[in-house]
Amino acid sequence: MGRNFGAYEPERCWVGEVQKICYGSREEAEMAARVAEYDHGITGLTVYKCEYGEHWHLTGGK
Ligand SMILES: [Zn+2]
Repeated sequence: MGRNFGAYEPERCWVGEVQKICYGSREEAEMAARVAEYDHGITGLTVYKCEYGEHWHLTGGK
């Protein structure tokens, strides 16, 4: 909403029963968390490293 990422399709992986967006670094995930808060009012997102690969995810949030 409000942002056009063009053809960019984020990488995702299945974590439990949900498909989560993968971020290549902690910084990238933290940036995405801030964007989610700013654009969508989603707060309380936490960055954590995926146990299935060399990337990061966001969890939590309202
Ligand atoms: Zn993952």
